[in-house]
Amino acid sequence: MDRVGEEPVLNVDPQQQITLLEVQQHDLEVDRVRHRRATLPEAARVAEIEAAQRSLADSITSVSVEVADLELEQRKADNDVDLVRQRAAKDRQLLDSGSINDAKQLTSLQHELESLARRQSDLEDVELEIMERLEEAQGRQSALLAERDQMVADLAAAVEARDTAMAALAEEEAAAQAARAASAQAVAPELMTLYDKLRADNGGIGAAALHRGRCEGCRIELTPVDLERIRGAAPDEVVRCEECRRILVRTPESGL
Ligand SMILES: [Zn+2]
Repeated sequence: MDRVGEEPVLNVDPQQQITLLEVQQHDLEVDRVRHRRATLPEAARVAEIEAAQRSLADSITSVSVEVADLELEQRKADNDVDLVRQRAAKDRQLLDSGSINDAKQLTSLQHELESLARRQSDLEDVELEIMERLEEAQGRQSALLAERDQMVADLAAAVEARDTAMAALAEEEAAAQAARAASAQAVAPELMTLYDKLRADNGGIGAAALHRGRCEGCRIELTPVDLERIRGAAPDEVVRCEECRRILVRTPESGL
């Protein structure tokens, strides 16, 4: 096989080249596990609940401010009604005591009592309206607090599911890494170095089988000229795909 640019031709035992394909399979398995870990739905679910919790906390803060404001308004309205009641009670006491004999004064007192009754009725309407708004706000507050409790439980369950899934993936990755290390050990270091570089530069695939005349790395059929050249190459020569430059490993199914 021709020299490619400045790259020297490597000669590595054909069995080691086959083993390199195993290394490649294990590396792809590690990549798949890592990808699954990075895109784990269980982790996305945890993030989703955490975001919902932040948004819910904001809603709880604002409804709590609303409730506190309405409670203050309610106390003020109660107080207003009390003052009017007290004033009316005092007037009535005065009227009932019989101590006022002046007709003008009596009329004036009766007018004031009528006016106080109207005022009390108006203030009680206000009081009632505030109470209704308060109850409505308290209802929303209770619902949000219940939702918060539910979310705490949901988050705990989601975290547990994520951790379980992560632990399983960590085990899978460790197993794939161990298998990779065992296979890589059987391959000449200079071939591993070339493979690692090609793998980094070519989307995770550094070595591919030549299968029925096709490179399994780029999936392009080799030209008859290239196939002829590979047929003529020594069995231990590390050949490369002319299209993708990956290490091309000859197997019994290469179609040579
Ligand atoms: Zn190729």
